[in-house]
Amino acid sequence: MNIAKNLAELRRAVPSRVKIIAVSKTKPIELLQAAYDAGQRAFGENYVQELVEKSPLLPSDIEWHFIGHLQTNKVKNIAPFVSYIHAVDSEKLLREIDKQAEKNARVINCLLQFHIADEESKFGFQLDTYKEVLNAIPFGEFKHIRICGVMGMASFVQNQLQIESEFNTLKNIFDELKTGLFKDHSEFVELSMGMSGDWPLAVDKGSTMIRIGSSIFGNRI
Ligand SMILES: *Cc1c(COP(=O)(O)O)cnc(C)c1O
Repeated sequence: MNIAKNLAELRRAVPSRVKIIAVSKTKPIELLQAAYDAGQRAFGENYVQELVEKSPLLPSDIEWHFIGHLQTNKVKNIAPFVSYIHAVDSEKLLREIDKQAEKNARVINCLLQFHIADEESKFGFQLDTYKEVLNAIPFGEFKHIRICGVMGMASFVQNQLQIESEFNTLKNIFDELKTGLFKDHSEFVELSMGMSGDWPLAVDKGSTMIRIGSSIFGNRI
């Protein structure tokens, strides 16, 4: 696995306006270090325990993105150092992130996750209810959170039309929130969508952050 070469190829193919997040879950720190040495600074992890164990062993200027499902009782473990939390999908979680960020005298960047896939197992705000749910959340009270945009995962299918339609759905939600609920939030700019298998389509649809694991580090076993 030539990580530097994989990253170089990816950087050539991805427009410069799109941030590449290297998804390093289950991978040993040697591989993360290799990506770091090749210039990569944004890394994504899915599991709190794993992130807490790896982060102190790696350079301190890494920008850590937590991209997995986050349990409220574990927010305190990553609040001291995490830069972005991608999969925020409840008021309860927002409150806890705000509380723990305040304890650490920090502001944590958050993305709101939407359930765009046609699959049971994915988390996120539901498409049929999110408007009421979001309108009832007192975002103004959260002084230690920056809502930076939205995140979603397309269905794990081959059907490109289905994936395209799910990315369109997320882009439409982003546009609607950007001109509506978050119109006074200049930091609401990120559309986190696209993984190794579907990032070109996501970028085509306006993604600003792609989360790439296997195309950089190889397949996970
Ligand atoms: C694992 C994971 C990725 C990366 O997946 P690859 O297909 O290996 O690129 C991206 N986003 C999330 C939320 C993930 O859990």
